[in-house]
Amino acid sequence: MNVLVIGSGGREHAIAWKLSQSEFCDKVFVAPGNAGTAKFGTTAAVDIHDFEELGKFAADFNIMMVVVGPENSLVEGIHDYFQSSEYLKHILVIGPKKAGAMLEGSKDFCKAFLQRHNIPTARYKTFTEATFKDAVEYLKTQSYPTVIKADGLAAGKGVIIAQDYEEAFDALDAMLRNKRFGNASSKVVIEEYLQGIELSVFILTDGKDYVLLPEAKDYKRIGEGDTGLNTGGMGAISPVPFASEAFMQKVKERVIEPTLRGMQADQLDYTGFLFIGLMNVNGDPYVIEYNVRLGDPETEAILPRIKSDLFMLFKALHEHKLGEFELEIDPRTATTVILASGGYPEGYEKGKEISGLENVPEGVLVFHAGTKQLNGKLLNTGGRVFAVTALGDTMEQALEKANAAAEAITWQDRYYRRDIGFDLRKLSV
Ligand code: ATP
Repeated sequence: MNVLVIGSGGREHAIAWKLSQSEFCDKVFVAPGNAGTAKFGTTAAVDIHDFEELGKFAADFNIMMVVVGPENSLVEGIHDYFQSSEYLKHILVIGPKKAGAMLEGSKDFCKAFLQRHNIPTARYKTFTEATFKDAVEYLKTQSYPTVIKADGLAAGKGVIIAQDYEEAFDALDAMLRNKRFGNASSKVVIEEYLQGIELSVFILTDGKDYVLLPEAKDYKRIGEGDTGLNTGGMGAISPVPFASEAFMQKVKERVIEPTLRGMQADQLDYTGFLFIGLMNVNGDPYVIEYNVRLGDPETEAILPRIKSDLFMLFKALHEHKLGEFELEIDPRTATTVILASGGYPEGYEKGKEISGLENVPEGVLVFHAGTKQLNGKLLNTGGRVFAVTALGDTMEQALEKANAAAEAITWQDRYYRRDIGFDLRKLSV
């Protein structure tokens, strides 16, 4: 069977890598992929936003399964497109249709869903430009910090944690009146600030049954000690020490099961991964957000811990047998460190030659993100360039290997955080 993975980051490299290990998977195509995926997969040179072109490729190359990495393709309706075509509807698409993707595509939609189905989340209200004055009045009644969120997709930049009223007002003004995120900020959610520690929980679901994947914690800020600008993610750890059995039981009962019941009640017809961003507030889970796909870099930490065949897991979804699927998980800790181009998440230089991959310690996995091969040279082409993942019996052991690998791979101005896991280390003391 041939599979098509859509996307070009470390997440897609990890998915394609894991699928390529399956004896049931003949060929793995990656559109558009990167220099890493090109080594074992086949690069599909198609425009991933052109569904017609993608569909034609899938039909021509006998694709039986499409795994969608990034949210944009799902929000734009890639699944709906395949489903609506006579020639493509037999293809299993891992990722929800447009209606389900709204759980990530609109924060207002997501919050209303959470509230309607009694799933614990922060108190909120939604405003538009027409209700700007009400929003200002509402801000005056809030305690601080308070959270201001652009409704639509804003590449992780649409959330402001405002420390006081002035900051909140400025954020509101920029989003609603000055359209800082265009259409994505035509609505704004004002939300109560939750104090706690975050973790990411992942399930694969056919909308009814689900398989719980390993959980992870990611590190979003560019600077050590969780300082500086937000990024796509600078590292990840799996498992998360505070995700105890008791806590995860609460997550299942209070979050996952009501979410699936809610999807059915609302007829979202959801298939694919669901990433639940949670805040652990004094031992109780609160939903911060849903993402309708796997996270990056969390994927690079959780897939290496899954021993089961990923292709067979997808097949079980297709056959509505997820309820019987026993996921085999490596009990070791996986740590992922992201290597980024200096300057990221702001401006950075591309086209620098990368060296040192041959010095990566054995057993460490190197997933490519922003890389390309040109005239025999490996070059950086993006902000996040590699995700290196190491497994160890303890987090410390895993980190030692991942950091050594990160140090070995170099190019001009490459940057990585040397403190991934710092907060968990404190917790385990
Ligand atoms: P991303 O794309 O980076 O996942 P996003 O733009 O979809 O993020 P959220 O995940 O809703 O936005 O928020 C981003 C971050 O802001 C969260 O990971 C969390 O650290 C913080 N945050 C969001 N909502 C709250 C809240 N109610 N209380 C405290 N922190 C919050």
